[in-house]
Amino acid sequence: MMWSLLRVALLALPAAVAPAETIFVQAEEFECDSRTWIAREQNSPYAPDSGVKHLWGATGGQGAARRTVQVPAAGRYRVWVRHTVMDRRGPTSRGAFLVRVLQGQTVLAEGRFDEQPPAQDPARVHRYDWNHFTADLPAGPVTLELSKLPPLICSGYTRYVDCLALTTDDRYVPHESDFQPKVWLRVKLGPAQTTPIYIHCFADHFRAPWYQHASLSKSGFEPRVAPARGKAVYLSAGEATPWCDITSLIHEDRGARLELRGAEKYSYEEWLPSLDATFEFATAPDEAAVVKWFARQGPGAGLVVVTPGVLNSRTADQLKSDADYCAQNQALAGSLPPVTFGRRPERFPFFLSIGLRPGLFAPDLRLAEYGVAARLGFNGGYDPVDPLLTSAGFRYTRTGPSVWFMDHGCYLQPETERIRQQFAAKSQAWQGAPPSLVMLMDEPSAKPLEHAVGCARCAEVFRSWLRDERRVVLAELGRDTWAAVAPVGTDQRDAAPALYYWSQRFRVKAFGDFLRLQTAEAGRSYPGAPPATVNFSDGAVYEANLYLMGADYFELFRSRALTMAWSEDWSNIASTYQCAGYNVDLLRAAVKYHDQPVGMYLITSYGRTPLDVKLKAYSSLGRGVSVLHSFAYGPHYTNHEPNWYLNRPMYAAMSELTREVGGAEDLLVPARRVPAQVAFLYSTTSDIWTTGVTDLYGFDRMHSYLALLHAQVPVDFLSEDDVAEGRLQPYRALYLFGPNLLGRAAGPIADWVRAGGVLYLAGGAAVADEYNRPARPLDDRLSLKRGEPRTQQTFQAAGRYLTQLKSQGRVAIDGGGSADLYGAWQPIMVQPSDTVTARGADGQVMAARVVSGRGKVFVCGFAPGLSYIHQALERRDAQGSPAPAADNPLQFDTQGSFANLRPQDASYNPWEYPQAERELLLAPVREAAVVKPVTLSHPLVETFYLSGPPGAVVTLANYALKPIANLEVAIRCGKQPVRVASVRRGELPWKLDGGAIVVRLPLTDTDVVKLYW
Ligand SMILES: [Zn+2]
Repeated sequence: MMWSLLRVALLALPAAVAPAETIFVQAEEFECDSRTWIAREQNSPYAPDSGVKHLWGATGGQGAARRTVQVPAAGRYRVWVRHTVMDRRGPTSRGAFLVRVLQGQTVLAEGRFDEQPPAQDPARVHRYDWNHFTADLPAGPVTLELSKLPPLICSGYTRYVDCLALTTDDRYVPHESDFQPKVWLRVKLGPAQTTPIYIHCFADHFRAPWYQHASLSKSGFEPRVAPARGKAVYLSAGEATPWCDITSLIHEDRGARLELRGAEKYSYEEWLPSLDATFEFATAPDEAAVVKWFARQGPGAGLVVVTPGVLNSRTADQLKSDADYCAQNQALAGSLPPVTFGRRPERFPFFLSIGLRPGLFAPDLRLAEYGVAARLGFNGGYDPVDPLLTSAGFRYTRTGPSVWFMDHGCYLQPETERIRQQFAAKSQAWQGAPPSLVMLMDEPSAKPLEHAVGCARCAEVFRSWLRDERRVVLAELGRDTWAAVAPVGTDQRDAAPALYYWSQRFRVKAFGDFLRLQTAEAGRSYPGAPPATVNFSDGAVYEANLYLMGADYFELFRSRALTMAWSEDWSNIASTYQCAGYNVDLLRAAVKYHDQPVGMYLITSYGRTPLDVKLKAYSSLGRGVSVLHSFAYGPHYTNHEPNWYLNRPMYAAMSELTREVGGAEDLLVPARRVPAQVAFLYSTTSDIWTTGVTDLYGFDRMHSYLALLHAQVPVDFLSEDDVAEGRLQPYRALYLFGPNLLGRAAGPIADWVRAGGVLYLAGGAAVADEYNRPARPLDDRLSLKRGEPRTQQTFQAAGRYLTQLKSQGRVAIDGGGSADLYGAWQPIMVQPSDTVTARGADGQVMAARVVSGRGKVFVCGFAPGLSYIHQALERRDAQGSPAPAADNPLQFDTQGSFANLRPQDASYNPWEYPQAERELLLAPVREAAVVKPVTLSHPLVETFYLSGPPGAVVTLANYALKPIANLEVAIRCGKQPVRVASVRRGELPWKLDGGAIVVRLPLTDTDVVKLYW
């Protein structure tokens, strides 16, 4: 058995690869105990060879893995080992190991690996290197043995051993593709007349390393963008390349996407008008070994194929061309049942991440693919709108010029002239038909504090900004002279708190200045100055803190750093994807100053279920998002992004979603959210002081917001500046979270409460000022008595991991039910006139209602928002939902896309939330007699009311995850509609009841109720 499993590679051809006597051994074929060393797949998409088995020894203590090989002839060998290497971070980030060569018990040689960071490019992680040692070996059997060097237990990302290669050729440096099954390609030009050309191959992979270039000509395969010998080896009509070994372009685990195109030279702009060629793929350089071939004729310069990792006669059907995929896609789209409601949107831009370069692909293929995208209901893509796209009903496009140039990585040192020139050059192609929007950058963030600390330019601007613009008094900063004022890092948080606070805000200032320059230059370059934006990653959801990325939305949009807001609803590892809407509401709050539009990426691939995608889309639509962009679609042969191309259930769901948007757009597009009566104060000051310390204040805020949403209470976010400037006045209830409060915001809050406002003061809220000095401005003004917050837990991770928090005690809630105590709690001292609403196990007051002037304060001593989500996640994890009974299926009648799915299969989200915490959180809403624009008979359905001149819409998204047979919707719109309809159900009978328009309808997943004035 030992011998039969051993792969000894005896490779003859070509000479450039492994020498003939090379002994090659896969590490996963070593004998091991499967505990200390385990044969398993690499699981990081950033690492090479993901999906291929390696031997992994990060866990399980000391152990040895062995394999005996047969040495053909005595000699001096190099023993090459391919293994993961890690960078200089912590001692357990590297998984050092020992390789010994044994003859019986005698050690012939040994080599130590990954004890030190690699000499070359040490910062690049997730990688494999080949390293070696030398061994004088006798002929006959020797044993290779792997064991661990300290530390025995290391990061799970490392101590992967891929393979070993023993060779006597000391000039040979192995490459893993030398040992992988071969793929050969021969290209023959057809009889059509052409200028002499070569075949340029761009290889794109589905994991790192991502890209490679190669050329194919009479010289055969060369790993370079054009043949070294130039035109001398170009092909003319009727000529062919020799058989070319293209194995090195293909990752053995996931294959490759190969763009093969006829080229006169290497260029990204100039394309041959057509190509007439045959491409033969073979397992050996031999006519008889051809497993598949493609003929390519007519307009368009190239052929794109997707290859499997291992090509042979069994996997040949996995080797597919662009035309193969396109035909499959057309067949799938043709088989979908027609959507019987709504229509494809025209006025609402609904983008799909589709791009098919006209120079590369044949026009009929482009038309067919855009035809499918049109059937799915989209109206925007990446390609400029040309007559072909117009004929398919596409009217929106976008550009991403990517001219992010600065010196020394400093936003305050922009390469202005270069940016200007590049904008001018890149906008040329758009002069006739301007893009609908300009996406300046994907997921940019502010520079970390460390940048400003070490940057002379930043220090200089920091001083003048504080002194001349912010007009900060020198004494406040704890320095004697302005010359001594400089940005500080996290290590100076406590020693120089004022400087730390301003350093954090300076990150945003510098970021904003650079964005503003980009926006201005884009506006100058593109005709009609289309809206300019960047895609902010959703750190606001991930760690519930805007300063994680330094993207303080309020600051950036108020200062017109951009003319449009944009983010993405990844909500990766969030407690629920519904939190994506929290991020959108923050953007909505930030664009109010200049009424800028908000766009969102609708993450549709990466395992998102069709139901979740529809719900997230509604969470954006209801909050006033006016552009959606589904990411990532494909087609599969056009890029390496994991996509939803050919995903039938998603096709069905997206066909519905686009029709629902189109069916509502006559009212939706001109409609705006009406102001809410409940505000959440978003304290960026607290974000500044809690980032890197704990995310629990932010998560309490986020999930308290969620509880209100579950009861259909819409919320507006206010910044501290908003409150300081009087924007709190129209609101009836205010929720305040986080330990820090901007000093000048406190007075207006207290005045507003005493005049009749209802304040929810979260546990540990507003106990320090912006410089983190203890301060109780609300307690003093509102006659509250609260003790010092007692932190029992901190937490820094994504929301899904909140389940890892262990309860620190129970809280009995007045009116029934109880909650768990997480994070911090704060003693509350009550007076006889106060009403206690929650008590801890020892009887201590955990929440109380305090009368203050004509207003009320609901003082909370713990974090019901954390308990609310914790219980929901626990129920989702442990209890689950019973399987649907045979006579009562959970029938989502959405073309079968989620038919009969149990909630846990239909969605990532939890769907059973505790009532006690929600009621406690809702008490201020009730006390303030908040009038909801929409009241529903069922909780957990997310609804929003948007109104405009021709009518109003009510969005409905069923986050309860179970179909509702008869949902009552009561809408307070203040006027009588002439007609009420839903996109999914058509005309709806309605009645006037207590001043509300009341309709009833079944709700499966999503719908829009439309009221025409
Ligand atoms: Zn700088």
